[in-house]
Amino acid sequence: METTLAIIKPDAVARRVAGQILQRIEEAGFQIRAMRLVRLTRAEAEGFYAVHRARPFFGSLTTFMSEGPVVVLALQAPDAIGKWRALMGATDPAKAEPGTIRRDLGTSIERNATHGSDAPATAAFEVGYFFPGIELA
Ligand code: GDP
Repeated sequence: METTLAIIKPDAVARRVAGQILQRIEEAGFQIRAMRLVRLTRAEAEGFYAVHRARPFFGSLTTFMSEGPVVVLALQAPDAIGKWRALMGATDPAKAEPGTIRRDLGTSIERNATHGSDAPATAAFEVGYFFPGIELA
């Protein structure tokens, strides 16, 4: 069993497709271990994306991620990290496989509907960032 951190980003919450994304998560067989609706401050978004602070889109990304509420989830499944990234699709919705969340619900490389941890160490940091104390079984 593995646990990953998923975020339904502000674009998806604002467009009222959070429920549809939660349905896809449940139908794919993930167990929802924890879930919060939260509006990130700019500082919280910067802390979460600290690994990207040298990237040219860091300012735009952290402004976007703090523009409205997000749904943050800890998802558990065998190979949860890879399984959730496959369900999301590629970063750029235009390049994502048909049927993936980002292809169906993302509108740009930045406003791509969802986030997912990319490796076990990242998942541990990201789950702990929003759900301190949760056990990563
Ligand atoms: P991910 O792991 O698929 O989310 O992709 P990355 O870790 O590379 O990037 C983190 C997030 O930054 C992405 O999900 C997008 O929201 C945003 N992003 C990535 N690349 C770009 C880009 O070239 N331009 C802009 N504006 N945002 C980007």
